[in-house]
Amino acid sequence: MSITILDHPLAGDLLTILRDERTEPPQFRQIAERLGYLLVAEALSDMGTDDVEITTPLEPTTGKRIDRPVVAVAVLRAGLGLLHSVLTLVPDAAIGFAGVQRNEETAEPMEYYTKFPALDSARVLILEPMLATGGSLSWAIGKVKENGARDIVSVCVVAAPEGVKAIEEGHPDVRIVSAALDRELNPSFYIAPGLGDMGDRLFGTL
Ligand code: URA
Repeated sequence: MSITILDHPLAGDLLTILRDERTEPPQFRQIAERLGYLLVAEALSDMGTDDVEITTPLEPTTGKRIDRPVVAVAVLRAGLGLLHSVLTLVPDAAIGFAGVQRNEETAEPMEYYTKFPALDSARVLILEPMLATGGSLSWAIGKVKENGARDIVSVCVVAAPEGVKAIEEGHPDVRIVSAALDRELNPSFYIAPGLGDMGDRLFGTL
């Protein structure tokens, strides 16, 4: 397994706005989408390409096209905050959904909905912005693997060391791309310093 932390001043700038408690949902959604472009670009940076012959207005040339379909699986709800970033960069990406709710006392994942497109020959991006205990992400990775996924990258905004360790141990084949690796989980299983509850910040819920 490998983890890539975005090393780009723009990523740091955008993440700081997301972390700031004064950032209200309309701006939070916009900034999450913009940070998502950088995360998704990194998550696709090692994809293979096929040569294709095309003609520019001046002459024939050889271009490159990505060699496999891309699927994004949004872990509900917070993963929705990165979905537009995928669809803007890869408009023909197919989309899946993984509905899991965190038990607030145990932090264990509780499934309530899954729906996936064909996964077996695709690069599958699992959109799980807050990698806290790793419970939801491990569950989502297990689900997409059961449905044929073999090439999986987790796209996160903030990761905690505890969650990274859980994925390293449970799914060593899955790469993690994140904008930050934070200090720790607090006793309520929130990432510290973190940015709070990503779903609440995106959608204005309490
Ligand atoms: N989920 C969130 O939205 N935030 C955290 O800090 C941890 C899990």
